Amino acid sequence: MSKTLQAVRGMNDILPQDAALWECFEDTIRAWLHSYGYTQIRTPIVESTDLFVRSIGEVTDIVEKEMYSFEDRLNGERLTLRPEGTASCVRAVVEHNLLYNAPQRLWYMGAMFRHERPQKGRYRQFHQVGVESLGFEGPDMDAEHILMTARLWKLLGLQDVALEINTLGSAEARQQYRNRLIAYFEQHGGALDEDAKRRLHTNPLRILDSKNPAMQTLIEAAPKLMDDLDDFSRQHFESLQATLTQAGIKYRINPRLVRGLDYYNATVFEWVTTKLGAQGTVCAGGRYDSLIEQIGGKPAPACGFAMGIERLLALMQEQQFVPPTLAADAYLVHAGDAAGELAPKIAETLRDTGLSVVLHCGGGSFKSQMKKADVSGARFAVILGDEEVAAGEASVKPLRDGGEQRRFKLDKIAEVLSA
Ligand code: ATP
Ligand code: MG
Repeated sequence: MSKTLQAVRGMNDILPQDAALWECFEDTIRAWLHSYGYTQIRTPIVESTDLFVRSIGEVTDIVEKEMYSFEDRLNGERLTLRPEGTASCVRAVVEHNLLYNAPQRLWYMGAMFRHERPQKGRYRQFHQVGVESLGFEGPDMDAEHILMTARLWKLLGLQDVALEINTLGSAEARQQYRNRLIAYFEQHGGALDEDAKRRLHTNPLRILDSKNPAMQTLIEAAPKLMDDLDDFSRQHFESLQATLTQAGIKYRINPRLVRGLDYYNATVFEWVTTKLGAQGTVCAGGRYDSLIEQIGGKPAPACGFAMGIERLLALMQEQQFVPPTLAADAYLVHAGDAAGELAPKIAETLRDTGLSVVLHCGGGSFKSQMKKADVSGARFAVILGDEEVAAGEASVKPLRDGGEQRRFKLDKIAEVLSA
């Protein structure tokens, strides 16, 4: 016998029992983004490998070891399944010249792919909602992103997510900081792990992002970028903090927060929870003022953030969030030839009025049909037998809150179900 086929490790099926939660989440997301004036952009799942190498950075976890890359069999092009959404979004904006006349507030939602070790909250195919604001220079936009995420937690019923912010300064400030950091880590060369040794001269800031517990004491004591900050970044950061304080948003400045992607400068932030174990970051973002130019566009400032949907849903479930049911209003049961012929038309008439109706298919006894109606979770069974058909009527039986089965004229059924 051949081996049963299974999904690829770290890539999950989203089963019908979880559909209500996903759909409720997605509906909330759309309404929330709409209320801030953001429009959706959809980009391909596959892009040229070069796009991610150039934007995320060569010496990062994603580019060094997490990308699903392959050669197009027909023309040898190097391609990659997108590991994140910002690079594609910026590529599309530049390619289609969307910044020609106006800044853009954009969002996307979809699957991302990273070859990581699968564990709770960390998968190889996962889903993100991302927001990118392109062409905005001031800290008012950074603040908008943080305020809107704070509102989203309320909409999703989430507690226990805390905001951490930091600033990465300008490229020049980071260059100076880099040198100080290299000097510091060189002094402690013996305590560095393999990753850190490799990155010491190529990308020492990445060492601060290390997940290795053995490295944390060393990282804690490292010099802080805050001491090398340029005037623009300092003012930007102070103004952002003033706005957050005005709006009543609590935050903690975390000088170790550097983010795992190279394109960030100035503001970076993360929303973290302690309720999900090691995978506690549910949302992360920041400013990336040089990325548009790096990808070949006319220089323009930008900032954005992305959220891990699986982690947010896990947190919603952890906090007993109950999504509204997806069950239909009615399950239409029918017995006899005449009823069977009429039933599809009755179902359509009910749907014309906006009701959701599951039409029983596949025959079976009246009793077994009623069982299926019950299991479906529908509010009512609408019952059509030969006797009802002859009288131009149908019976309505409430399935959830008790109540008598009663007969009504066919043209009254919709009204009864909607009442
Ligand atoms: P982490 O530090 O957890 O690896 P990251 O810095 O690599 O996260 P980003 O690239 O900033 O993550 O992605 C934004 C968000 O997407 C993360 O905060 C997280 O919620 C989610 N995310 C990232 N990688 C995964 C993954 N492999 N599985 C599930 N969610 C993920
Ligand atoms: Mg990661």
